[in-house]
Amino acid sequence: MSEILVGPRFRDKELERIFLSYYDKTFLLHFRLGIGLGILLFPLFGLLDDVLFPEVAPRIWWWRFGVCLPPLVAAAALLFLVPPRPWLQPVLGLVAAVVGLGTLGMIYEIPTASYNIYYAGLMLVIFYAHAFVRLRFLWASLATLAILGGYEALVFLLRPETPVKEIVSGHFLLIATILAGMAASYSLELDARKQFLLQRHLDEERLRLESANRKLVELNRQLEVLARVDDLTGIANRRAFMEQLEREWRAQFREGGRAAPISLLMIDIDHFKRYNDRYGHPSGDRCLRRVAGIIARFARRPRDLAARLGGEEFVLLLPGVSGDDAVGLAERLRAAVMERGIAHDASQVADVVTASVGVATEMPGRGREPTALLKKADDALYRAKREGRNRVAAYR
Ligand code: GH3
Ligand code: MG
Ligand code: MG
Repeated sequence: MSEILVGPRFRDKELERIFLSYYDKTFLLHFRLGIGLGILLFPLFGLLDDVLFPEVAPRIWWWRFGVCLPPLVAAAALLFLVPPRPWLQPVLGLVAAVVGLGTLGMIYEIPTASYNIYYAGLMLVIFYAHAFVRLRFLWASLATLAILGGYEALVFLLRPETPVKEIVSGHFLLIATILAGMAASYSLELDARKQFLLQRHLDEERLRLESANRKLVELNRQLEVLARVDDLTGIANRRAFMEQLEREWRAQFREGGRAAPISLLMIDIDHFKRYNDRYGHPSGDRCLRRVAGIIARFARRPRDLAARLGGEEFVLLLPGVSGDDAVGLAERLRAAVMERGIAHDASQVADVVTASVGVATEMPGRGREPTALLKKADDALYRAKREGRNRVAAYR
């Protein structure tokens, strides 16, 4: 709590500003309750005026209802109608001072020897300002010191005939009550400041945790993405492909009797081992990236997916594409690889890199597994290889 200075006040101006606004919001209920109760009690004591001093009661009432009550009512209106503002504390302090001075006005109206009867009221006002309404130390102290000043003026200037005994006992009571009140409001405010710091600390900690959590979620998301990308080529990997295949398969299922076909192209570079042997592994990698780029361009619709299964083997998943359309696409893809013109001296098929493509189409349905589609495409690819490579074969 090193941030707290005697006063009490925070060293840091900004922190102090935030605290003041926090304080007024937190204790708004206290302010309202205190002022509200004051408005109820103050007129009630008016009955006592009549009982004790019937001859001057109307004059006392003037102080009670004309001086003390209006500021209380105004303060209540302020507290219930306007949200707390920085000037709320000084205004409430002023109200406390006016009510206290008004009470002194009542004392002024009665015989000096009977002052002590109204001291209780004065002490109540002081206690109220310091503890019950939860005015801050500074404003409660200023208000009650103003009341003390008013008392001095009353007994020394306005009523110099006040007996010394009366003056001495009055000072004892007033000063003791003010000191006790100051101690109370000081310690209450200190507690409020500690509570405020604790709350702030907790809020900061919560924000820190939330932001750390957000970072984790984002990292996790990035990891999820990375886990589905092929390192070498940057297109989807086998895992992403298998997930997408499963998803599409089940999606077609759900559409009921009107299931659309799913086509799959399996693409394998021809004589790629020789390519590596002839040009070296790094060139082989470059070649894989180029071919991957070509295949990726054939995944045009949102649900199409180009993926590298591993090695020099790729797939192109085409949901909703018929067998004939898939074969047409496969042929264009094969031609595109060849037309890219990546030199391949060691190939037995052409003087450029070529690929063989196996095509399979399945109608997703009950009792059928998506792996059947993979198997068929693989069989077709095998046939394309066997029949001479650099060609398309469809599963029959
Ligand atoms: P085929 O026409 O029958 O497909 O013959 P092929 O040589 O392409 O097939 P094979 O399966 O015999 O050889 C595949 C080669 O692919 C073996 C390996 O050197 C190469 N390869 C696999 N993964 C990578 C890779 O990540 N980078 C490179 N540069 N080469 C790879
Ligand atoms: Mg190959
Ligand atoms: Mg292969």
